Amino acid sequence: MSVKGGGVQTRDGFLFELSGGRLCLDLANTVDDRPADQRKELLGSYSDLVAWAEQARVVTSEEAEVLHEEAARRPEEAQGTLAAARRLREALFAIFSCVANGQSPPEGALAVLNTALPGAMSALRVAAAGGVFEWRWSLDERGLDRILSPVIRDAAELLTSPDLSRVRLCESESCGWLFLDKSRNRTRRWCDMSVCGNRAKARRHYERKKRGSEAGGSI
Ligand SMILES: [Zn+2]
Repeated sequence: MSVKGGGVQTRDGFLFELSGGRLCLDLANTVDDRPADQRKELLGSYSDLVAWAEQARVVTSEEAEVLHEEAARRPEEAQGTLAAARRLREALFAIFSCVANGQSPPEGALAVLNTALPGAMSALRVAAAGGVFEWRWSLDERGLDRILSPVIRDAAELLTSPDLSRVRLCESESCGWLFLDKSRNRTRRWCDMSVCGNRAKARRHYERKKRGSEAGGSI
């Protein structure tokens, strides 16, 4: 599960904003300004993907270190995993933005998720933990794409859970981020009030002032 604020920086100091409230939505949000002409790719390399996974608590810092080392040894596989992560991300955006808009998701996007699902679930184990049992991901797996497995599982779980009705698309026209509205009255409108909320509020304030001065001028 993602934790807001992350806390672990990438090697070049970038902090991902984990405001989606679900792992799968946080991966979908690794593109800035998606609806604009100049969308900004936040996963520029496999190393960025590992940093995202570490900040989202998908992997520990030790596991991240191993993945960085393995990726340096197998650059082609790392590149392939990055491409798969972006493909999955675009499918997740297509699915959940349709859900947020009350539309049926495109079949192609659902197919991307379903194709990835069996491989992801094959890494799941049940382990005894202090008198109870819990799901664990198999740790002997060295595959570079194993960081995607928890995201894939999270997407499938969200799609089949009552929380699906709480998935929203940020109201800011230039944002394109998804989030889970956990507010009691289901009234959250922005991915992050301090970013898009304030921007929208500032714009409304400006437009109101502008309208006011125009109206004042015409009298
Ligand atoms: Zn936003």
